[in-house]
Amino acid sequence: MIYEYNYHTSQKIFICSNCKNRRVTAKIHVDEKNGEKFIEISKNEHICEPKKDEFPARVINHSNFMIVDREDKTNPAKAIVFTSNEKELCYELSYSSSQNLFECMQCKKLKKCVNVKLYTKENGEKYLLKLKNDHICEPKKYDLQNFEKAKIAPKSMFELYQNRKGAANKKLVVFTSEKKDLIYEYYLDRNLYCCLECRRLRKCVTAKLNGENEDKHLELSKTEHICKPKKYNQKNFKK
Ligand SMILES: [Zn+2]
Ligand SMILES: [Zn+2]
Ligand SMILES: [Zn+2]
Repeated sequence: MIYEYNYHTSQKIFICSNCKNRRVTAKIHVDEKNGEKFIEISKNEHICEPKKDEFPARVINHSNFMIVDREDKTNPAKAIVFTSNEKELCYELSYSSSQNLFECMQCKKLKKCVNVKLYTKENGEKYLLKLKNDHICEPKKYDLQNFEKAKIAPKSMFELYQNRKGAANKKLVVFTSEKKDLIYEYYLDRNLYCCLECRRLRKCVTAKLNGENEDKHLELSKTEHICKPKKYNQKNFKK
């Protein structure tokens, strides 16, 4: 059984959030002789009931997940959480920078909010903490290659435009570099963008749009273009 204290940055102290109208605190000190930590507990005793320690069950250890970074390393793109040590099946959670956590999009489609948050222990080891709810989605088969080679393009590396008929977001322009002088053009086909030039050459090169607002990013297919990138002229495109 445990008591749970929350850290209050302004007061640099941990306070029991379950004790109503009573200030039950804990403060961390370091023993100058041996460098070991100890806590100083307030004289006030808890009036709250201790609860079951669910913390260990909520922790996902570093051996059981993987973080996939974006190419520009600004924010992580995804957390891959394995269902077992054999790493055959996994859940895929997408990073949301506004909330600073990873969200299961499959569960979201099923109207369930499944989130995990990335933390770093004092020894530098990373772990994920389950925030609420268990997955109701089916885990998928883990294919290492899918994730190792998946290229993530951040928001700054692409633009969405109208197609010839004036429908918005049907055309996608992906820059080949930060210089933004050369591009590949994609067209929306169902839920994937396909490179038209490559399709003419009978190759399927796709991009999938993920995330919302500031987190918008592209997942580019592993297949490389066989078409040549074109010169970018903004005047040729309409938002
Ligand atoms: Zn308490
Ligand atoms: Zn899920
Ligand atoms: Zn192409």
